[in-house]
Order: sequence, then structure tokens, then C-alpha cells
Amino acid sequence: MTPPGTSSSGESPLGESPSGEPPRDDAASPPLLEVAQIDVFYDDVQVLHGLDLAVRRGELVTLLGSNGAGKTTTLRAIMGLCPPRAGDIRFGGRSLAAVPAAGRAELGIALVPEGRELWPQLTVLENLQLGAYTRRARRNARQTLQRMFALFPRLDERRDQAAGSLSGGEQQMCAIARALMSEPTLLLIDELSLGLAPVLVDQLMQTIAELHAGGMTILLVEQNLRKALGVAQRGLVIETGRLRLAGTSAELAGNPEIRAAYLGI
Ligand code: ATP
Repeated sequence: MTPPGTSSSGESPLGESPSGEPPRDDAASPPLLEVAQIDVFYDDVQVLHGLDLAVRRGELVTLLGSNGAGKTTTLRAIMGLCPPRAGDIRFGGRSLAAVPAAGRAELGIALVPEGRELWPQLTVLENLQLGAYTRRARRNARQTLQRMFALFPRLDERRDQAAGSLSGGEQQMCAIARALMSEPTLLLIDELSLGLAPVLVDQLMQTIAELHAGGMTILLVEQNLRKALGVAQRGLVIETGRLRLAGTSAELAGNPEIRAAYLGI
């Protein structure tokens, strides 16, 4: 197993890099995202225990673990929704400790939350327009919207339909597109496949792979380990709030412990 962090780089699939982005990755630069020894609590209950992880610019990394391991909490901590009591989270080498969630979106972090959290009464178009709320995104919102409709033609067909009336797969497309409307540098996705039919999971995994091929940096939380390792370059396994294993997708897929615990092989 290798420690977290292999490098690659690329351009945003959403067009030119907005100013103020972190520097491009190279061997000498820090990872785009560094989670260093964070402790996160809900009231008095500690959920993350000195958790470490790193994602380099252009990587697609999957964060795996069983129910309650702390995957959602990790993404929420990165997004600024549950701040760590100890440790630090750095983005492009800069500590996010004093940056609230809205500020993190401005810096280029976007979350596709578990359960999608769309505005059900609003149309697809309105949900997407609201995704471009950051200063960095407003300028290009119209072009980004066209790219989203090209990426997800189903959303284009349903642009005037209430988001709450979409199928589960379409809602997930809408949630991904809404996050992309903020023109992120780092896309955090929580449970892409949750509740979706296998054929839709395959389609969405393909979209994630395309976004990654276009240069997007992605941290993907997934219960469906087989699918996740199929698209990701590397995987991180957390167990009760601690990093348990890290390796390339091939290493993890071949690991007997993982095969027994998660793949039922
Ligand atoms: P799942 O796949 O079930 O969502 P997960 O790995 O994403 O699991 P988390 O949702 O991060 O895990 O939860 C980690 C632990 O924190 C669990 O024990 C959970 O019960 C607890 N927890 C999560 N959210 C809260 C909350 N708002 N208040 C109190 N405890 C919480």
C-alpha cells in the first residue's frame, strides 16, 4: 500500500481557471487538499480521530468505509459544515480553519450532499442557477449552464420541471450539475449511487470518470466499493473515524481484507 498522494494535473472541464485558484500541482507543491490529524465531534461524541488524507490536483480518490465510519463527516468537515476541534484542513496549501463554508465555495470547493438536498419546488433550471451563487461562478453562469445541459441532456429536457418530480437518477444529475455550477476546483461527492438502479449508477460513474478525465479533482464517498474502485485512481478506507488503509484502486481491489469485508469474495 502506498501513502495517500499520487500526482497528476489537468484543466477544469468547466473552462478557464478563475483567478485566485491554488497553484498547479507539481512534486514540490502541496496536495490540493490536505486533511491533517483532524478530530471532529458531534457534541461530546468524537467521530473522527486524528484523520489524515490528501488529494492531489487532478486526482479522483474514493473514500470508503462501512456505515457510520465517518465518511460524510469528513466531507462536511472539508466543506466547513462541522469544523474540527483539532488538526487542520488545507486547500492549495492554505489553512481553511478561519474560512466558513461560503468562503470555501468561493475558493473552489463544492459538495454533492448525501440525499441530494435539491430545492424540490424549484425547477431544474432554478436549482442550477442557484448553484452559481459564488462570485467566481456568476460571471460565467450562462456558459456553465449550457455545459451542464450538454453533460446531462436529461436535465435540459426537464429544465422547467420541479426538481422534486425528477427520478432519483435525474435528481442526482441535478445535484452534481448544481455543484458544478459553482465552478469548483475540488468536487466532493457523497454517496453517488445511493438508492439508484445499477444502470444509472454506471451512467453516473461514467460521467464522474469524464469529469476527472477533463481535469476535475474529485473526492468520492461511496458504499459501492466495486464501482468506486472501478473509476478512482486511489482509495482510502476509514474505520471508526481513522484512516485504516490507502492504496491504488488495484491494490485495494486485490487486498484480501477488503475483498472479505466489502466485496464478499
Ligand atoms: P453512512 O454511510 O451511514 O452515512 P458515514 O461513514 O458517512 O456513514 P457519518 O455519517 O459521518 O458516517 O457518521 C459517523 C458517526 O457520526 C456515526 O456514528 C453517526 O451516527 C454519527 N453522526 C453523524 N451525524 C451526526 C449528528 N448530526 N449528530 C450526532 N451524531 C452524528
